Amino acid sequence: MAFEGLASRLQNVFGKLRGKGKLTEDDVNEALREVRLALLEADVNFKVVKDFIAKIKERAIGQEVLKSFTPGMVVVDIVNKELTELMGGTQSKLAKANRPPTVVLMVGLQGAGKTTLTAKLAKLLQKQNHRPLLVACDIYRPAAIKQLEVLGEQIKAPVFTMGDQVNPVEIAKAGLQHAKDNGNDYVLVDTAGRLHIDEQLMDELKQINETLNPHEILLVVDAMTGQEAVNVADSFHKQLTITGVVLTKLDNDTRGGAALSVRAVTGCPIKFVGVGEKTDALEPFYPDRMASRILGMGDMLSLIEKAQSNIDADKAKEMERKMRNAEFTFEDFLDQMEQMKKLGPLDQLLEMIPGMNKMKGMGDLKVDDKQMGRVSAIIHSMTTEEKRKPEIINLKRRNRIAAGSGTTLQDVNRLIKQFEDMRKMMKQFSGMMGPGGPGGSKA
Ligand code: GDP
Repeated sequence: MAFEGLASRLQNVFGKLRGKGKLTEDDVNEALREVRLALLEADVNFKVVKDFIAKIKERAIGQEVLKSFTPGMVVVDIVNKELTELMGGTQSKLAKANRPPTVVLMVGLQGAGKTTLTAKLAKLLQKQNHRPLLVACDIYRPAAIKQLEVLGEQIKAPVFTMGDQVNPVEIAKAGLQHAKDNGNDYVLVDTAGRLHIDEQLMDELKQINETLNPHEILLVVDAMTGQEAVNVADSFHKQLTITGVVLTKLDNDTRGGAALSVRAVTGCPIKFVGVGEKTDALEPFYPDRMASRILGMGDMLSLIEKAQSNIDADKAKEMERKMRNAEFTFEDFLDQMEQMKKLGPLDQLLEMIPGMNKMKGMGDLKVDDKQMGRVSAIIHSMTTEEKRKPEIINLKRRNRIAAGSGTTLQDVNRLIKQFEDMRKMMKQFSGMMGPGGPGGSKA
């Protein structure tokens, strides 16, 4: 994921600090030197790094820190807060018009991910019960209109197009009218990009801007391009006064410099980050959570929200009841696996759990789709009775299941063992969490 290098370097520096009972000024200076190098290596703008380090130094060398019983932790806390501040402090939400429709303009260079973002944003808004209209104003890139139409169809959102022979300003105007006539409360306008910023592109965007008077101009930048992304943001902002930045491709192995510098250089907040090619791979940007993630403190809040919006609450409750009563069967196991899959790639989830990002490097926690497929095949090869009463699965049955699922006896044995261990654990757990609550007795 993005920030991996930076995160592991910073966590190393602070690991050393935390281990010390007392800190001297030299300890702090040494640590900050390493932080500075780590940030520069992560491609953070040098001026941003300089200011950042100066701020931390000022606070960390303060007497109360060095005298504290846990000075290392206090320093990490200061870095966490300053890192959060650097990325904008609090979450910056998408604008909402007092009188709908809210008009959002997507701008940026070609290939940054504007068209994809238009669809992702529409999907996010649909989940919040809004009715977005997508407007195709990129008449230059071959197939851009088609791409938006295909994405719109995927997410079942209407797409307004007038082909590629009409002036984009006219399309934008007609699109807005269409939204008003059809009760769409968000108008998401996909505009044309270029390989480089040029005058013609800016003029066109300015005209669309004047015509639509949008509530939000989102600049889409590719996080992979590092400092270049920040330069692009700066130029766009100077000419167009953007209201927010969306960093895409953060799922790739980017060093993270753009995420850390954009706000400080342009003054514009990052509003969303793109974390994959699919239409649901968009996350609101929370500076505090991102800072915690970089510092290895995990991001449980995002994880919980993800679970809440993707997991069927009734099913989860029923599952919990079964776990408490140790009635959990292979059918439930399969069900739970399906629910987990909805949350997205497992390694992305693990990154959000404190401490897990380090363990992930060990490799054995990686559960890939192939492995999931194998487990699912094994369970599907069981009879209903076997799924409900795994204890009846003897050697003969195991061989049959292995043959039926195209796996090996070892695979089947391993899964049954895992399942039994899990059941045992649940029994213990339900003992602890019984009617008296944690620690209460079950009787
Ligand atoms: P546009 O020219 O700005 O409209 O860019 P597109 O929306 O066509 O995106 C360019 C490429 O980047 C496409 O292949 C997208 O699938 C891909 N892409 C967009 N956003 C993301 C993202 O967040 N992560 C990844 N991995 N790929 C992305």
